[in-house]
Amino acid sequence: MNRRSLEREAVLAAEYVLAEADIAPGDRVPIFDVIENRGIWLSFEPGLDRLLGVYQRIGDVTGIAINTARPLTLQRFTAAHELGHHEMGHESHFDSEATISESVLDRKEIQAQTFAASLLMSELAIETRLVHRGHSPDRPNLSATDVYLISAELGVSYLAAVTQLRILQKISFAQAQEFARESPLGLKQMLLGGRRPSNPRASVMQLTLADNQREIGLDIDDELDIALPEMPASGYEWSLPSGIDDTFTLANDRSESTHDGASETLFGETQNRHVTLQARAPGRTRLDFRPVQLAGELENAAPFTIHAITRTTPVPELGRGISIHQHDQLLETANA
Ligand SMILES: [Zn+2]
Repeated sequence: MNRRSLEREAVLAAEYVLAEADIAPGDRVPIFDVIENRGIWLSFEPGLDRLLGVYQRIGDVTGIAINTARPLTLQRFTAAHELGHHEMGHESHFDSEATISESVLDRKEIQAQTFAASLLMSELAIETRLVHRGHSPDRPNLSATDVYLISAELGVSYLAAVTQLRILQKISFAQAQEFARESPLGLKQMLLGGRRPSNPRASVMQLTLADNQREIGLDIDDELDIALPEMPASGYEWSLPSGIDDTFTLANDRSESTHDGASETLFGETQNRHVTLQARAPGRTRLDFRPVQLAGELENAAPFTIHAITRTTPVPELGRGISIHQHDQLLETANA
C-alpha cells in the first residue's frame, strides 16, 4: 500500500470513531472519554521516561498508557495516536518522541499519526472553526493568532495545528514555516493584553458577541477571554455571570480602547472589555453576561450566553494508575 492509501485508511478510521462518539464538528474531542467508551483500559504514568505513550494488546484485553509529565495537548495527541494503533488493528506499540512528534516513515506510525491528527483536527472540524472565525474554508487568510486560537479550541498544540493546516492545504509550506517560528506563549500573552497566563502550558481562548450561545470545551487551567463592547460614557456595560465560583475564577477584567474612529458614536467611544475566566473544576456552567445601562438592567435585552464544559483528566489522586472512571470496572474484573 502506498503512503496515500495508508493515510486515507487512517482518515476513514478516525471519521468512523468521530461519528460513533457523536462529536459535533469543530468541538474539542474529549479523547480520554472516547478511549474509555471504546472499552480500552486507560492509565496515566508520570514516569514513562522517554516514552510518550504505550498501546498494549494482550489477547482481547487492550490498554493505553499516557505519560503525564508532558503538556496536556501532547498527552491528548499521544492518546489519539495510541487509539489509532488500536483502531488500525496494530499490535502493541511503545511510542517515544521520535514516533509521535517527528516525521516518521514506519507505515504503522504514519497511520497512527494521521489517525490522531484526523481525529482531533478533522478537515470538517478545521473548516467549521475557519468559517466561525469569518474565513473562507478553502482559502483562509490566517494570522498566527488565528492559528493559535484554532489550536486552543481543538485542544491541540499550536505546532500540531500548523502541521495539520498545511497537510489540509489551508496554508502553504512557506506560511507553515513562518507560523512555526512564532512562540505559542507569546501569542497567548498577546491575547491576554500582555499578561502571562497563570499556567503557561494551558490554552487561552477568546470569544466575542458572535459566539453567543456557543458550547465551548475547556480543560482545567484553560483561560477564556471574553471581549464585550461597552460605551462607558453612556453607561452601557455588561454585568458578570453570577455563581461562577464553583467552576471558574475571574483571572482578569480589563478594558481596551478600540482606537477606531468609526466606533465614535453619538453616545461616546466604544471600548472592548475583556473578562478573563480560568477553569478551576470540572462541570457544565452556563455563563450569562447581561447588558446594563446606567446601573439598571436593560429590559428585554437578551444576555450573552456561553455554555462551558470543563473537563478534568481522569488521573487518580496518586498521580498514576488506571483512569478514575474505570476504578469500579477494575474492581468488578478483579472480583469476577
Ligand atoms: Zn505509535
